[in-house]
Amino acid sequence: MARPYPRAGAQYPRSLGEFHAWFQTDADCLDYLEWLRWPSGFVCPSCGHPAGWRIGDGRIMCAGCGSRTSVTAGTIFDRTRTPLTVWFAACWHFATGKDGISALSLKRTLEIGSYQTVWAILYRLRSVLVRPDRERLSGMVEVDETYIGGVEPGLSGGRAHGKKVLTVIAVEILEPKGYGRCRMAAIPDASAASLLHFVREGIEPGTTVITDGWNGYMGIEREGYARDRRSQNAARSRGEDPGELLPAVHRVASLAKRWILGTHQGAVDSAHLPSYLNEFVFRFNRRRSRSRGMLFYRVLELAVAHAPVRYKDLVATQRPRAVPPKPPTRRGHPSSLEMPPQNRPWRRGTNSD
Ligand SMILES: [Zn+2]
Repeated sequence: MARPYPRAGAQYPRSLGEFHAWFQTDADCLDYLEWLRWPSGFVCPSCGHPAGWRIGDGRIMCAGCGSRTSVTAGTIFDRTRTPLTVWFAACWHFATGKDGISALSLKRTLEIGSYQTVWAILYRLRSVLVRPDRERLSGMVEVDETYIGGVEPGLSGGRAHGKKVLTVIAVEILEPKGYGRCRMAAIPDASAASLLHFVREGIEPGTTVITDGWNGYMGIEREGYARDRRSQNAARSRGEDPGELLPAVHRVASLAKRWILGTHQGAVDSAHLPSYLNEFVFRFNRRRSRSRGMLFYRVLELAVAHAPVRYKDLVATQRPRAVPPKPPTRRGHPSSLEMPPQNRPWRRGTNSD
């Protein structure tokens, strides 16, 4: 039996109060992850056998091949030393905040001592947001490149957090007005190879792609797209502002820049910009979602389906920066946010084990 379409108050909490009532212990959180990972009951990750039994240490032994697995093994929670109640609280704030949350604010909210631990949790949550099978953009799509990241000169005393990163943006244009979904990617340069790769990955063939006059987009017609080329010179000769040729892309770019300066106070390292762009795109594409609790459910659903993100992978690209606080030399392990056990609404009326 497949998992039913999630309902507020049954499969995901409607409010912070409900969140606290449901996830009082680390065991509650673990059970919720188990239910998300195996909605129809245990399936062995090694051999695919659909049955097993629980052994003394909480792991499940496959009835087919005898291998032992835990609920969190092979997911982003693999071998975590952060209690699941802390992960869940972080995920709740990450998912339900309209604009997300910075590591610094989350550290204060959850009263966790280590900035590095909080930063790493948010990095891992961010890294699950891109579904490899997501649908490509279609219909009418604007595409253009811009620079994102760093701090604008004159702001906050002109602090430099790293170079700006060339970013290509695609936005669906709706009829009669409004914008649909978007895609963003950091690219090494504005060459035809970089731009066509982005277009192929993110946009359905047959789509009308609206671009400026840049030569880098010349090859897209051969790739099965219709190109609507907006010429800066033609706009200038009509007395129009050439900067307004691609209003959807410029709108989305300015929202992304404002989000980085607002939620993250501009403290986004250029090496990590791609993961922030993924988060922005995830939020933008769900901006009309009425239920923030549903986003919490979706993030956790992606998290149990996502391979582990190792600590060394995320510090490898992290460059030192002056502000906000420097990572401590050792990781702190926050204590659990446990409260006495209560009930598990997600198990009611659905399958049980
Ligand atoms: Zn097995």
